This record gives sequence, C-alpha cells and structure tokens, in this order.
Amino acid sequence: MADKLWQVLLKTALETEEYEITCLECFNLLDQYADLLLEGADPAELLPSVQQHLNHCPACTQEFETLLFMLQKAAREADIL
Ligand SMILES: [Zn+2]
Repeated sequence: MADKLWQVLLKTALETEEYEITCLECFNLLDQYADLLLEGADPAELLPSVQQHLNHCPACTQEFETLLFMLQKAAREADIL
C-alpha cells in the first residue's frame, strides 16, 4: 500500500517535471495567457505549462490576477470611450 502510494507520488512528480517552467518563463507567457482568457479561448488547453505553473506558484498567480484585473479594467475603459 505504502509502496503504491510512493509510486503514484513519484509518477506525479515526474509528469509534473515535463511541463515545469520557471517563474520567468511563466511571466513571459502571462500576457498571452490572459489575452486568450479574455478572448474566451481556453488558455489551459493552449498553454498548459502556464496553467500548470499557476497551479502551484502563488507568486505567479498573484501576478496573473493583477494582470487580468488591469486588462479587464482597460477593456472596460475602452468600451466607455
Ligand atoms: Zn512562478
């Protein structure tokens, strides 16, 4: 039972490794990711590495939420003008 658990954890860790990107790489893709989201596309499908990074990196999630907020605000203001 315990052995099996370790196998699952190890497998998960190895699978995670495949998509692993750094915070810098994530940051460089955040614009694109946010644009896709605002366009109604599925960024998790198109940029899975970013989605995966956001899932486990609170710092980048914070960055992303700030970016998204600013883009939505800009979009609203553009509509008003
Ligand atoms: Zn990060």
